[in-house]
Amino acid sequence: MSDESVEFRERMTILEEFAKKKLASLQNRSLRRRLVETDRREDAAAFRLEDGSETQRKALISFCCNDYLNLSQHPAVKRAAIEATEVYGTGAGASRLITGNHPLFAQLEKRLAKIKGTEDAVVFGSGYLANIGIIPSLIGAQDVIFIDELAHACLFGGAQLSAADQFIFRHNACDHLESVLAEHRSKAGNALILTDGVFSMDGDLAPLPDLAALADKYDAWLMTDDAHGLGVVGDGHGSKAAFDGASLSIPLQMGTLSKAVGSYGGYLCASHAVAELIRNRARSFVYTTGLPPASVAASIAALDIIASDKEFCAQPVRQATVFTDRIGLPQPQSPIVPLIVGDADATLKASHMLEAEGFLVTAIRPPTVPTGTSRLRFTFTASHRDEDILRLADFVRTHILPMRSDQ
Ligand SMILES: *Cc1c(COP(=O)(O)O)cnc(C)c1O
Repeated sequence: MSDESVEFRERMTILEEFAKKKLASLQNRSLRRRLVETDRREDAAAFRLEDGSETQRKALISFCCNDYLNLSQHPAVKRAAIEATEVYGTGAGASRLITGNHPLFAQLEKRLAKIKGTEDAVVFGSGYLANIGIIPSLIGAQDVIFIDELAHACLFGGAQLSAADQFIFRHNACDHLESVLAEHRSKAGNALILTDGVFSMDGDLAPLPDLAALADKYDAWLMTDDAHGLGVVGDGHGSKAAFDGASLSIPLQMGTLSKAVGSYGGYLCASHAVAELIRNRARSFVYTTGLPPASVAASIAALDIIASDKEFCAQPVRQATVFTDRIGLPQPQSPIVPLIVGDADATLKASHMLEAEGFLVTAIRPPTVPTGTSRLRFTFTASHRDEDILRLADFVRTHILPMRSDQ
């Protein structure tokens, strides 16, 4: 064997050792994650591969899916995806600026702009790609970003890529934001305030009117990530509409098509000029292939349902309320209800206990949430049945609530 390949083998061994050590450390802290094959069907049914088995599946009711309106299984949405595939094929074939801009994109962008009340919208490959593309297109090294401490990881990712100074403000604390704005805003060029509209791991709404007022007072641009708002709050229009939407100015509203919309993709709703700039400058828009026609067509069909049926859009929050009422938790502001257990290990155990009862509720652990705030995150969908929600609530009340570390 040549010296070169011996050296190559040694390097590989070092890499293997590195990976194994890191994994063992995650395992020791109850932070190791594993992919579990999950076969999601209609009405929140999920069939999960049993531990150690290659064929045996356990039937569960899922309370941890973001498909809030179950539109990923809606006949009209599936039909739209199939028909688009028949006509336009399975892939876009190139980036949207080359030849990947099939005719469905314009229809989808028009619907998004309409539902959010903006002049224009830009569709990206995913919500993550949207955030890491939009933020560095608008903000650079001379500028400044103010970001809620609990904002989604991809807002932090986009902020990081911008090379601007970043200041983190306490969750939903406008007084704290104001003090950091007062201290740091005037030294910078442009300023951007970043927040989730509905917080993904806590389910609460951002105080958008107060944030908009601060943005106005300190000459900053407000950007919301409405991944968990569209389709389920504000009559389906999202978090801005959950307040007095018409009078509220939020120039940058991004979101995803992968949650209540039941498909895949991300978007930014903004003015025409901003949308055009993003189409020219966002690297995660320019240098990536356009979404497959099926995904875009599914989003169009799903948005048509969302725009025409506000009763249906209100259903997931109603279902969440059935749960919170039964166990005496505060009124939910979205279909997301967190139950903080504290310890990562105890949270995993709670999740396993629920699974044994036929409920799928995954444990959310660091680094997704801050250390010491590991939690069960229950999400409710339009098709959950009241009797299942009540059975879940009763089990949680008797067996899980006493496990919390603040008890
Ligand atoms: C899920 C999520 C995203 C990412 O969207 P994808 O389309 O899944 O990439 C972004 N922001 C928030 C708040 C999310 O919950």
